[in-house]
Amino acid sequence: MTTVPKFVIGNWKMQARHEYGLELARGVAQGLRDNPPPSRLHTILCPPFTQLAGVHSELDEIGLPNEQLALGAQDCYPAASGPFTGDISPQMIKALGASYVILGHSERRQNHGETDAVIRQKVKAATAAGVTPIVCIGEHLAERNEGRAASVLASQIEGSLTRGFRGIVAYEPVWAIGSGITPSHEELQRKLTLIRALLPMRLMTDDIRVPVLYGGSVTSVQAPSIMSIEAVDGVLVGSASLEAQSFLDIITAAAEATTPQLTS
Ligand code: PEP
Repeated sequence: MTTVPKFVIGNWKMQARHEYGLELARGVAQGLRDNPPPSRLHTILCPPFTQLAGVHSELDEIGLPNEQLALGAQDCYPAASGPFTGDISPQMIKALGASYVILGHSERRQNHGETDAVIRQKVKAATAAGVTPIVCIGEHLAERNEGRAASVLASQIEGSLTRGFRGIVAYEPVWAIGSGITPSHEELQRKLTLIRALLPMRLMTDDIRVPVLYGGSVTSVQAPSIMSIEAVDGVLVGSASLEAQSFLDIITAAAEATTPQLTS
């Protein structure tokens, strides 16, 4: 079993307009430069497409290594180029400095009707372009209450990950996103253990530990407890990533909670 780094990922969604986004990126980069976390704790900023180039040059200016602070996009089209009005290819985001891309976020599944099959195509295209996919999965509240969470997660893993998948998986229960509610420690432990048990069928090996993150209403208050769960390799953060200090507090909490395992 290989060891994996830990991740803290900020998903800005369609927020942090231009100047503010640059300031936010600068604030996070300066905070990490001044107070560096362990080298195996990786931070990734995922601004809107329009800010990728600007954020990339802010990060470049501070000059942290890519493993410490990297850039990601929030989606991509499942082809390299072509007559697809309004779409952005993985090659395009890569050219702007993104090395990661969030795929299958529940807001895209809900608002754009993205199916597992579409997400799998995107995973394939991103991987071919050399961009690491961060694939979001998670059940709705009704599915959880009806005891169907396990089968939903199984079918999302089966449907949206490619055979031989190499990327990051983020468990984001839809009911926890933006709600201020997080699953209990026990529930998270159970769900993440289940996801880990389901993954080898897509990874085609038992020997790779794909990073599995949790996302949904994470703040610096819950981060230590979430990061202390053995099966959790990091957090995907929405709202709390929109302010440099609150995001840096999460990174600090994540670093402290994971320090014993992070011998670099
Ligand atoms: C998200 O939408 O990816 C997310 C985790 O949002 P929030 O932290 O705001 O719940």
